[in-house]
Amino acid sequence: MALHTRRQIIAGAAALAGHGPAVAQSSLGPDRLVLLGTRGGPLVTGPAPTPSASLIVFRGEPYVIDTGYGVTLKLLAAGVPLAALRRVFITHHHSDHNLELGPLLTNAWLAGLRSTVDVYGPPGLNAVLAGWWASQRFDIEARIVDEGRPDPRALAVPHEYGEGLVMQAGQVRVIALRNRHPPVAESYALKFVLPSKTIVFSGDTAYFPPLADFARGADILVHEVLYRPGLDAMVARRPNAERLKASILSHHTPAEDVGRIAAAAQVKTLVLNHFVPGDDPALTAQIWAEAVARTFNGRIVVGHDGLSLPLD
Ligand SMILES: [Zn+2]
Ligand SMILES: [Zn+2]
Repeated sequence: MALHTRRQIIAGAAALAGHGPAVAQSSLGPDRLVLLGTRGGPLVTGPAPTPSASLIVFRGEPYVIDTGYGVTLKLLAAGVPLAALRRVFITHHHSDHNLELGPLLTNAWLAGLRSTVDVYGPPGLNAVLAGWWASQRFDIEARIVDEGRPDPRALAVPHEYGEGLVMQAGQVRVIALRNRHPPVAESYALKFVLPSKTIVFSGDTAYFPPLADFARGADILVHEVLYRPGLDAMVARRPNAERLKASILSHHTPAEDVGRIAAAAQVKTLVLNHFVPGDDPALTAQIWAEAVARTFNGRIVVGHDGLSLPLD
């Protein structure tokens, strides 16, 4: 009897100390959505904001959405050890969304990755990965022999996807909708359906009303956003101003239209992301929120690198 009691005490102490199975499952921390990089476009000018990357942690597993430059360090800052990487989703193959895909996989491998990582992306993904592995062939083969590591080219499993079901694993489903991001034909919005929450990422898109149907009733819509008055100031500093401005206007969504999508979809929370311009200090969170609030009267969260929203 005394032994039984003692065992109970030890079990209780182990759970408190973080050794119990329930605690181990949530070693990545609570279920949450984290914006890792919120800058629209490929420019890197400092540690934040960095180009596109987001994270969902659900029941101890990480889901990485886009791998813009900076994603490795931002994942570490969000409390995700690189060897815990399991699933990565790329919305389209603009470099502000995939530039660090290969380096992230290599960094995870160097951090001790032993499990496979499923990588989902539109057509072109296989070529992106093949090119990366070819560029790293010397290092990979040297370390396999020299350090006894597994072959990272076998650990990363690419899945090229189109519209429809992208992934179903356990209680998580991911569904893709082709959006409108010319000249990129293979560009997608992604919907993550969890048991208690639905989260939709617009990806990069021009105003695209079908997205409202796709996101209908979602708990969280993470939508890209363009602030038109800020665009003139932004392109004025660039040598190819007019061409750049026309290009940006043709494939991104102005703030008022982001609000229209969120209102039509009746989402509970709208999270602004992928800001264009992404580097104008005059554009405060209040300015972004007010621009969207003209057409959406629900909850608006102005994203920033490191923003974390609980999913419970
Ligand atoms: Zn982008
Ligand atoms: Zn893009």
